[in-house]
Amino acid sequence: MPEQAACVRASNFTEVNLGYSTELARQEALRCLECAKPACTNRCPVGVNVREFVQLIVAGDCMAAAARIRQDNVLPAITGRVCPQEDHCEGGCLMGKKVQSLGIGYLERFVADYEQQHLDFAKISKAIPTGKKVAIVGSGPSGLTAAGDLVQRGHQVRVFEALHEIGGVLVYGIPEFRLPKKILREQVDYLRAMGVEFETDVVVGRTVTIDELMNEEAYDAVFIGTGAGLPQFMGIPGEHLNGVYSANEFLTRINLMHAYEFPRYDEPMVDLVGRPVAVIGGGNTALDAIRSALRLGAGKASVLYRRSEEEMPARAEEVKHAKQEGIDFQVLTAPIEFLSNRNGWLKAARCVRMELGEPDASGRRRPMPVVGSEFDLPLSVAIMAIGTSANPIVQSTTPGLATNQRGYIQADENSQRTSRKGVFAGGDIVTGSATVILAMGAGRRAAKSIHEYLTTGVW
Ligand SMILES: Cc1cc2nc3c(=O)[nH]c(=O)nc-3n(C[C@H](O)[C@H](O)[C@H](O)COP(=O)(O)OP(=O)(O)OC[C@H]3O[C@@H](n4cnc5c(N)ncnc54)[C@H](O)[C@@H]3O)c2cc1C
Repeated sequence: MPEQAACVRASNFTEVNLGYSTELARQEALRCLECAKPACTNRCPVGVNVREFVQLIVAGDCMAAAARIRQDNVLPAITGRVCPQEDHCEGGCLMGKKVQSLGIGYLERFVADYEQQHLDFAKISKAIPTGKKVAIVGSGPSGLTAAGDLVQRGHQVRVFEALHEIGGVLVYGIPEFRLPKKILREQVDYLRAMGVEFETDVVVGRTVTIDELMNEEAYDAVFIGTGAGLPQFMGIPGEHLNGVYSANEFLTRINLMHAYEFPRYDEPMVDLVGRPVAVIGGGNTALDAIRSALRLGAGKASVLYRRSEEEMPARAEEVKHAKQEGIDFQVLTAPIEFLSNRNGWLKAARCVRMELGEPDASGRRRPMPVVGSEFDLPLSVAIMAIGTSANPIVQSTTPGLATNQRGYIQADENSQRTSRKGVFAGGDIVTGSATVILAMGAGRRAAKSIHEYLTTGVW
């Protein structure tokens, strides 16, 4: 996949990957072995029929390829860009055992972008209305997928979103250089053209409750896909200092509020130019935050991660890109305290080196501090990207909605049904922070199950 040179892209927010030409896409598609038992499809949480769409690219019919993908995946331009393909489709590709796996994500992205350029929205057909109404709470990938699948079955679908833009993490978390907002908007426009209705600035649980939606606004079913956007902190001294951010706040200011376009957008950020910045964590969120800081002019941009690179949960491509851009990776390192200057601003992180012990509950080797290894790392900004948890608003305002000890909604893993009749849930609000494609898989299962409930009346 052609990409912007690392030295150029490290100071701009335009997309890193440039996309395949039609010829490159065809060449790549020709590498498909057309396996009789395609592990790529079996390992995809939404079951995209890779073999068929790839063969349609070979045949030169990219619109048919797009239509084939859309039968299983309503957000192909997004999954083609951000899915951890190495853990799913490409991880199952037979060719990967000998040479490089087929670039399934890149091909999906190519087909979706091709469709977008050639699509006539007027030709998108609408299903025959069933007369049933479904409310979707949250417009992240789980909610958008459920909405797309349900509207295709003829149900009237309305998505309620707390923020002023649609997309969940896709719009407020993942930066422009990985997922341009224009691409997301086009995917949302496609759903709109299919008949999905959207209402922003509605905090369900405050503006309106689930009970009010069902009893007063006559929704026959509700899907909750509110994500897990509540930031977590380490609980170490100095986390309150000026200059210490949660990754969610940092990224929201940049992505949703356009801080990188200040003063055209009225969203100031602390001045990072020439200053040392570090992110704490090793997932996609951490890399998005530190690569954004680099683009905003940070002097030294470091990742502090308490395990080794092997355990890093971020997508392989993001780690590769971050290294090319000059991000400094301090693995087996964790802060134990943030130190302040006399004005209450962060001036350094006291860190400790770690070593890996026996595997913990997550199956990964437990990091243990190395005695006497403390050192101070000068820092102007520290960004905490150590995970998030469930926002409690919907759960606390919906009587009878069962949650687990950590506040996540309990839902059946096949049907996504909750303890409340007619109420379904899926995505990060059920599983905890996971991935776009897993959230989409949950949205898909929920849509199927909601359709069964609406057509049979059986709970
Ligand atoms: C910075 C970052 C980068 C990531 N990068 C990747 C990646 O590269 N690849 C990948 O696969 N995964 C990635 N992930 C994880 C992935 O984005 C999430 O797993 C996924 O978005 C979860 O989808 P969701 O639909 O469950 O919730 P979300 O995307 O979190 O969306 C939930 C939506 O619900 C809204 N909401 C919440 N409460 C209410 C309410 N009370 N009323 C109305 N609306 C409400 C929120 O505002 C939000 O818009 C990343 C996550 C982050 C934070």
